[in-house]
Amino acid sequence: MAGSMKIQFPIPGSIATPKRITKKKIGMAKVLLGIVVSQAIGASFMMPPAMAQKASLSYSELIQKARKNEVERVEINDIQKTAKVYLKNSARRDANGKQQDQPIDVMLFSDSNTELLTTLTDAKVPVEVKNNAESSAAMGMLMQLLIVIFLIGGLMLILKRSANSPGGPGQAMNFGKSRARFQMDAKTGVMFEDVAGIEEAKEELQEVVTFLKQPEKFTTVGAKIPKGVLLIGPPGTGKTLLAKAIAGEAGVPFFSISGSEFVEMFVGVGASRVRDLFKKAKENAPCIIFIDEIDAVGRQRGVGIGGGNDEREQTLNQMLTEMDGFEGNSGVIVIAATNRADVLDQALLRPGRFDRQINVDLPTFNGRLGILEVHAKTKKIAPELSMSAIARRTPGFSGADLANLLNEAAILTARRRMEEVTMQEVEDALDRITIGLSMNPLLDSKKKRMTAYHEVGHALLTTLLPHADELNKVTIIPRSGGIEGFSQTVANEDTIDSGLYTRAWMMDKIRVLMGGRAADVEVFGEDEMDSGATSDIKKVTQIARQMVTQFGMSDLGPVALEGAGDMYSRGGDSGQGDYSQAIAEMIDQQVRAIAVSCYEDARKIISENRELVDELVELLLEMETVEGAEFREVVQKHQGRSAVARPLLTHLSR
Ligand code: ADP
Ligand code: ZN
Repeated sequence: MAGSMKIQFPIPGSIATPKRITKKKIGMAKVLLGIVVSQAIGASFMMPPAMAQKASLSYSELIQKARKNEVERVEINDIQKTAKVYLKNSARRDANGKQQDQPIDVMLFSDSNTELLTTLTDAKVPVEVKNNAESSAAMGMLMQLLIVIFLIGGLMLILKRSANSPGGPGQAMNFGKSRARFQMDAKTGVMFEDVAGIEEAKEELQEVVTFLKQPEKFTTVGAKIPKGVLLIGPPGTGKTLLAKAIAGEAGVPFFSISGSEFVEMFVGVGASRVRDLFKKAKENAPCIIFIDEIDAVGRQRGVGIGGGNDEREQTLNQMLTEMDGFEGNSGVIVIAATNRADVLDQALLRPGRFDRQINVDLPTFNGRLGILEVHAKTKKIAPELSMSAIARRTPGFSGADLANLLNEAAILTARRRMEEVTMQEVEDALDRITIGLSMNPLLDSKKKRMTAYHEVGHALLTTLLPHADELNKVTIIPRSGGIEGFSQTVANEDTIDSGLYTRAWMMDKIRVLMGGRAADVEVFGEDEMDSGATSDIKKVTQIARQMVTQFGMSDLGPVALEGAGDMYSRGGDSGQGDYSQAIAEMIDQQVRAIAVSCYEDARKIISENRELVDELVELLLEMETVEGAEFREVVQKHQGRSAVARPLLTHLSR
């Protein structure tokens, strides 16, 4: 896109400005997630008991069911030597097709039940041992047994690992053996209509379908059919899906393998696996070979410490040999995917190999809309929920992120025992994904008050500044990951669509980011500033630096001073450091000037509206979450009473 300026934020456009404390609580978030999910499953158990019917299961049937992964959990009563077995939803029908809701009693016959416990542990079935005063001795034994099983399991895992790594003890056993470890899908069942939002890529690939279906169309006029297509784009944008859709549309088998699988193998195995893959594919032509993460094998050879990885090079060489070895019209088309085309070995990109390169970018607004519509088809969506509202809220999301968002929303809907997904569930799922799980509100404290001032600082600035994004909400309900609160904006539709950001927008964005720190200092003084503004300041620096070095928006003029750092496009011209030390100092100066002047603007606006800030903080402390519309209403009412100082901003000399 010539002349466009894209700012790469973690989530461009709608940015929450969370206040982070330095402590990391991510591990906790994971644990919490686990609990929540298992509750959801538990809830579906509450079926009318009238339907229940007693059934029985033998010891060996139980073991079989555990192996087939049909067991939800098991309660063992060590005294009575019985186990209560709860089957999974899917397996909960008995032979007569009756729904089986009650636990099934199973008689156990030995003291230790080693086989059962091993099977259950392997199948990751939660086991509960009913506690009983007399059973404590037995319990102890059981616990010991479990520990032993875990230890053995761990040991086996370690052994397996080392068997897979070069030089490990497993090498002797595996050497030279090439188990074909690629997947084959006779029918992918994916069609082009399942892939949305990447119309250009789809159009280009339409031709590949024709190559596979009617090669004569091309060969009669002497055209050589390309052998390889390289799909380039960030993860989750639908590259695998596209490749599958080509196979689906053409009605040909789909062979797939991932480059990363080759990396940890012994010398020779990767190459022979590639040989096998191509051999099988040729036998099944016409067909598609899909190589995911090709950069894992296809990196430039001979780079890195010690000259690189032998295994990788051999695998790559084999791949090149194979691709050279077959004629384009043999009916095999190799599709590879990567997000790092810039690191690929040039040999891969030579004509006759992956000479077609197609970019698969993150979807635009319309693309997101299309993808959401594809995934909404399989969900019960409330009629008033508009997909365009979701698309508007999700700039920077990949197809996979969007699919995940709708799925999370559907899970929330089920958990709330509702029939249809509404915007509320989507909003909640969105916050969960982008910010973190919500936690219990803090008790009243100075910390809570400080967070409120910080967030109101952001929220008020985004409301008052003419070019800033619209406030969606501001909240002081903490979230996992150490986030104490956030103020969230919705990006303007024009900017989302074009990806074009003006200088005015960027400057206001920086002022908004500075608003938190400005309010902290204005209200509590310099001494009370804390590390909560770390991520705000980092973002400020990032934007300001891009303004100076990439967008030509400073006194240094319209000169590109640094590579765009766009790792998804090809070309090795990341001309970092193409300037003198003197220019480097000037860049730093300009960046600092932008940051400092925006901070001063923010301070000024906060101090001139101090009364309003206090009023908004009281509201936020009381409500904990204030929606954008309500926030604006309070601001407008206040403006009616006393003239709100119109933000008069200092402008950098240009
Ligand atoms: P990649 O190979 O680019 O990492 P995938 O093709 O594996 O991404 O995408 C993962 C999932 O995300 C898909 O199975 C699909 O559900 C969803 N998805 C991604 N992109 C799209 C798209 N353009 N249209 C519809 N669904 C998509
Ligand atoms: Zn902040």
